[in-house]
Amino acid sequence: MELSGPSHPLLDSPPICMQRSIPWFWIVAIGLLVLAPGLTARLFVDVLEGAALLLVVGPLLLAGAGLLAWQWAKRRLTICPACGTPSLGALQCPACGASLIGVERGMGQGGTGGSGSAASTAQAAGIEDARDAVIDVSVTEVQEP
Ligand SMILES: [Zn+2]
Repeated sequence: MELSGPSHPLLDSPPICMQRSIPWFWIVAIGLLVLAPGLTARLFVDVLEGAALLLVVGPLLLAGAGLLAWQWAKRRLTICPACGTPSLGALQCPACGASLIGVERGMGQGGTGGSGSAASTAQAAGIEDARDAVIDVSVTEVQEP
């Protein structure tokens, strides 16, 4: 006979279990639903309206954020002059290891941009080339005589 007292805890608390089994919360909630159906319908419609609004506005917001991110990335994109791999703010090309210091930013060399900023950077590069050519000409003029 090795049976002892504490080995049967279930015999000590059946009344507590029966008292806790009554779902007062659900009874009150169902009672409220029955007593105030207009309020519940109003709440339901409000929630539906919120969900519909989120479904309509959410993708628009996401698209706007994506467009802004794409514009930001395009502005910071550097195209490798050797292999054409675009990289974000890197000093070396991740594909071929060429130095990207001094390379024009903003899709100026890639040809896939076509926006106003790319045209302006191309114009700036052309002006710089013209200045270099003028300086070269003057230097040769000085060296020749
Ligand atoms: Zn490269």
